[in-house]
Amino acid sequence: MKDLLSMTLPELQTAFAEWHQPSYRANQVFEWLHVRKVSDFAQMTNLPSTLRTKLNAEFCINRLFIVRKLASCMDDTVKYVYQLPDGQHVETVLMHYHHGWRLCISTQVGCKMGCQFCASTIAGFVRNLTPAEMLLQINETERDAGVVISGIVLMGIGEPLDNFKHVMTFLELLSHPKGRNMSLRHVTISTCGIVPKIRELADRKTGLTLAVSLHHAEDTGRSRIMPINRKYSLSELMEACAYYFSMTGRRVTFEYAVMEGENDSPEDAAALAELLKHQQAHVNLIPVNTVRERGYHATRKAAEQFMQLLRELGINATVRRTLGSDIEAACGQLRHEADELSGRSERFAVCNSDRHGSDS
Ligand code: SAH
Repeated sequence: MKDLLSMTLPELQTAFAEWHQPSYRANQVFEWLHVRKVSDFAQMTNLPSTLRTKLNAEFCINRLFIVRKLASCMDDTVKYVYQLPDGQHVETVLMHYHHGWRLCISTQVGCKMGCQFCASTIAGFVRNLTPAEMLLQINETERDAGVVISGIVLMGIGEPLDNFKHVMTFLELLSHPKGRNMSLRHVTISTCGIVPKIRELADRKTGLTLAVSLHHAEDTGRSRIMPINRKYSLSELMEACAYYFSMTGRRVTFEYAVMEGENDSPEDAAALAELLKHQQAHVNLIPVNTVRERGYHATRKAAEQFMQLLRELGINATVRRTLGSDIEAACGQLRHEADELSGRSERFAVCNSDRHGSDS
């Protein structure tokens, strides 16, 4: 049964026209869903009861359930493991930033991309999230935490550009003036580098910030740790990033997880400076989160040393502020555990960095 929350306003209008309902009904329902955020047709009190019954028979309005919630003792960061309607799990992280609350959401259950250092990909790919399931991560978190979220980063589990259609619908719903009306300037999409989709996103001129997960500045090394690089080389990726900037005027952010002995040598810094010399770019450095199944590690000091190397080469770089370091299991790890344990209590892996939002 289709979740009504995934439907755009034009789709609702078409459905209501087919039912010979006046067109303002679609606006009314859209407002109940996206402004008042009801999850029961019975609450849509300005609709005739016959229509509510019909909606109830044809559509559903899903909810997500909190399976686990980890609140940091050090700051306001809260990590949620949500259960989706089909029993799958995803992770969502709420963070307090300078200008308000920011939410890091998942876009897929698992991931196909196979990045060597990433926990989200270990158990493989299960399915795409629907637009409703992305919106619900926001609605449920606001409801639980009693906050208003003013910024979204698509940096949780999954590759957003591998779920392009649903992510675009999600953005349309999120930013609709008759709905939540969030400016897409407050949204960041992070990608491992699916070049044709970066170009498609650029052509849409949405105003959102693009973050590209780079992690290596030459093809051999990047292909070793990020299989996507075997399909789209660094030169193709850089051309797509330059295109994104030329179409949108938005500076691309480059994410670089420092992994000691893997990508933090002076040669790596020189290669990165060379790669970015023609880009309007900012580099976000983070010490890699240790993932139990993988061998990579880094201290904050290693990331800071790499930042110094880059700055000396004229590259704009920062080491990201650490949020929720006491609860920060590498993204994807908690979902994995929730699946394995299905509800049993367990100690969580504790790592030492935050990778959920740029803090430039
Ligand atoms: N698939 C998208 C978004 C999800 S991953 C992407 O690749 O960008 C979000 C970010 O976390 C990416 O920059 C990713 O490379 C990074 N990341 C994944 N595992 C990490 C780890 N163990 N330590 C630090 N960053 C990690």
